[in-house]
Amino acid sequence: MTTRNVALITGGTRGIGAGIAERLASDGFDLMLTGRRSEEEVDPFLMSLEQRGATVRYLRADVSSRDDREALLNATEEAFGRLDVLVNNAGMAPRRRADILEADEASFEELIRTNLQGPYFLTQSAAQWMIRQQAESRVHRAIIHVGSVSAEVVSVNRGDYCISKAGIAMASRLWAVRLAEYGISVYEVRPGIIATDMTSAVKEKYDRLIQEGLLLEARWGTPEDVGRAVSVLARGEIPYATGSVLHLDGGLTVPR
Ligand code: NDP
Repeated sequence: MTTRNVALITGGTRGIGAGIAERLASDGFDLMLTGRRSEEEVDPFLMSLEQRGATVRYLRADVSSRDDREALLNATEEAFGRLDVLVNNAGMAPRRRADILEADEASFEELIRTNLQGPYFLTQSAAQWMIRQQAESRVHRAIIHVGSVSAEVVSVNRGDYCISKAGIAMASRLWAVRLAEYGISVYEVRPGIIATDMTSAVKEKYDRLIQEGLLLEARWGTPEDVGRAVSVLARGEIPYATGSVLHLDGGLTVPR
């Protein structure tokens, strides 16, 4: 069994999740990662994390599936015997942007199951386990949600995504209140425009927004920007911030 702190990161092998995994591996965490790709596909990335000193395990698991979520926590227990930090990062963009007057219900359901229902119930199961292991816990325990500025900025061509992230914002606050008595802190980080596969399809639109809307530096955010912030929260540097939202958007959503 490991003596290092253990973090479970959903969707932790590319994009923002990979940035978080790299930072946490360097900052002393062992890692359980999950995604939908095969272990062979992600193996080179896992090895790069081990070079940072972490023990790393991967399970192919879909966060929208109850069985997969259960398998994921069982695999974490088997590999490490403990869980200190859960990062709910995995998420999807709408497969097809569609005006909310036209959008279909099946796509809505798939996105909500992945972006909201999956993280919500993974948190429930992980929290139950964290509470059970509380007696022997020596460390700061946290649940960190990767939300989005789409929780507060209306985009009528992807209502499903906006609703899922508004739901995550409330879920984060609900869990912060419910888990406080067990000493578990809960946070949301709220990225703006981050350079990943998810945003590469709408590059020109975001280039324009960045030029017009950011403070200090007109640049794309990076997975490393998010990783640094998540690490501060995961390491228990600011537990006084439980229940709060940390915007990571270069100032995009500051009202002017
Ligand atoms: P990417 O599309 O680049 O990566 C998505 C990650 O989530 C991948 O690791 C993918 O795994 C995993 N994933 C997707 N669906 C599932 C699923 N059903 N079960 C398990 N894993 C899944 O996205 P980003 O890195 O950009 O986004 C990460 C998070 O950040 C999302 O929640 C997104 O909404 C949020 N976000 C992103 C912003 C951005 O500008 N990029 C801005 C604000 C928020 P696999 O590789 O195996 O498919």
